[in-house]
Amino acid sequence: MLKVNSINVSYGKVEVIKQVSFEVNQGEVVVIIGANGAGKTTIMKTVTGLLKPTQGEISFEGNNTTRIAAEKIVKLGIAMCPEGRQVFPQHTVYDNLVLGGYLIRKDKNAFQKNLDYMYSLFPILKERSKQFAGTLSGGEQQMLAIARAMMSNPKLLLLDEPSAGLAPIYVKGIFDMIKKLADQGTTILLVEQMANMALKLANRAYVLETGCIALEGSATDIMNDPKVVESYLGSKKY
Ligand code: ATP
Repeated sequence: MLKVNSINVSYGKVEVIKQVSFEVNQGEVVVIIGANGAGKTTIMKTVTGLLKPTQGEISFEGNNTTRIAAEKIVKLGIAMCPEGRQVFPQHTVYDNLVLGGYLIRKDKNAFQKNLDYMYSLFPILKERSKQFAGTLSGGEQQMLAIARAMMSNPKLLLLDEPSAGLAPIYVKGIFDMIKKLADQGTTILLVEQMANMALKLANRAYVLETGCIALEGSATDIMNDPKVVESYLGSKKY
């Protein structure tokens, strides 16, 4: 579905992604784990067209997306939920979901179907639909940010560190939510520092170290790799 082939990405003269290749197949949950500054967000921004690689190619369902504009990539069916739960705080939960569904807004039936689907998967959002998003807890805001990305009916959902900045009590709720979406057949590319939880729900995983893929394999193999245990799982209790 998504194929990333040997991309390099730079900020000015500083190359932060080097010869990175990975793929996501339909129905999979793929996780890229890596420490702070490894380049995870840079990869997500490149897949969504916000940054352009200096080398290499990206394709989505056979379309070469390497050089096309971010809005066109959204229309092809890739939705991103960025790091830092960026909901619109002065808008209600419902209005945030409406904004997420702008691509399908003209098709009222499709819009209502998506809204009902999100409310059925995440009843707390229905309960809070009239509340301002800024008054939700951190975990609820993250849940809303993910549901908003899902409102455009994406073929591929990109999640950039959904656990970032959340208290442990909320992190489990967010991972349960991601699991629900995966169980319903959503294809997901997730980048995370919270390696243990992410690996538990992923099918396959890549380990990113200072801009390069250091390891790749099934999530189970990666979880049991001694280097991963030592560097990413050792002291993590999640
Ligand atoms: P984190 O887990 O802390 O969010 P990350 O793995 O997502 O980190 P990136 O945000 O992709 O990492 O950053 C990779 C490298 O690129 C870092 O060294 C960072 O300082 C650098 N970088 C990120 N954004 C920019 C920018 N706009 N200009 C220059 N350098 C940048």
